[in-house]
Amino acid sequence: MKVFVMDAINEDVSRKIAESYEVILPPLSRKLDWKKEADAIIVRTFPITKQDLKECTNLKIIAKHGVGVDNIDLIAAQENNIIVTNTPGENSNSVAEYVITLILSLFRNLPSYNNLVKQGKWHSLSTSFELHEKTIGLIGLGDIGSKVSRILKNGFNANIIAYDPFTPDEQFKKLEVQKVNSISELLLACDVISLHVPLNEATKNMISLPELLKMKPTSILINVSRGGVVNEDDLYKALNEKIIFAAACDVFQQEPVEKNSPLLTLENFIASPHIGGSSIESLKRMGLGALKNIDAVFNNQIPPNQIV
Ligand code: NAD
Repeated sequence: MKVFVMDAINEDVSRKIAESYEVILPPLSRKLDWKKEADAIIVRTFPITKQDLKECTNLKIIAKHGVGVDNIDLIAAQENNIIVTNTPGENSNSVAEYVITLILSLFRNLPSYNNLVKQGKWHSLSTSFELHEKTIGLIGLGDIGSKVSRILKNGFNANIIAYDPFTPDEQFKKLEVQKVNSISELLLACDVISLHVPLNEATKNMISLPELLKMKPTSILINVSRGGVVNEDDLYKALNEKIIFAAACDVFQQEPVEKNSPLLTLENFIASPHIGGSSIESLKRMGLGALKNIDAVFNNQIPPNQIV
């Protein structure tokens, strides 16, 4: 059986896959004709289109290494009887810790101070905020949103408000998170807004100028969900005109983000290359999770995390 790995994965995991299967790693996997040769593929952000799936001859499973499956045409996979799996929960610690990193970095102006000192400048007048007892708004209270809420509550005595019409009320109660029924309520009240929703028709451009205008001028926005959830032109306007204090994005409408994106010129903006979910530990867990799903399919069992 041939397993094509389309994006870089942890080396220990590649070796483990090679104990049972013939493994083709990138960049070779992208050069060969995976659509004709692969029995299974592992993808992180590599896009799988309707046309790709039509051309596949042996492919039985697309094992997503991660949670969000918006890079895979799920309807076409179903039409072509190809199983799609993911690895929920395996990177949520990593993303949740990264959210805290971004909030603290923005509140304390860390990138600017780092740059100043490296340029030989010493500027000690602080224009930064504490996170202690701030009000945090989470949009999406699934795996990652829930972990973020626990860290903020336990570590910073923060007051957490969340908007997620699909999460049961018991989860809000268990986490001691206040439930709101509209995004507007959350935007008006919070010092930090952090996004933890999948990208779909309902969440596309969920944060655009009207929403940014409702946020406090001292507030910050964190997007570690998906690029399309925030309208980047509107975010630039809000940051440039100091409608909000600062923002950080780990994900962009187009990845890699264009070098000349106006957002990248701003002092009050932090960018990172979609690495929220990628720690050494989580990469191993996600890789092994993808392998478990593949093993199950080749042993005629139901994979632990089947989506299609
Ligand atoms: P999850 O499925 O556990 O949680 C998503 C939550 O969003 C669910 O509770 C759902 O009810 C809620 N939701 C869906 N549509 C909504 C809407 N219209 N309004 C409000 N809430 C809505 O997923 P998760 O593991 O918490 O991950 C969330 C997202 O984070 C993923 O879909 C993925 O896009 C992104 N992610 C990014 C990285 C990264 O490296 N930056 C890593 C992992 C996940």
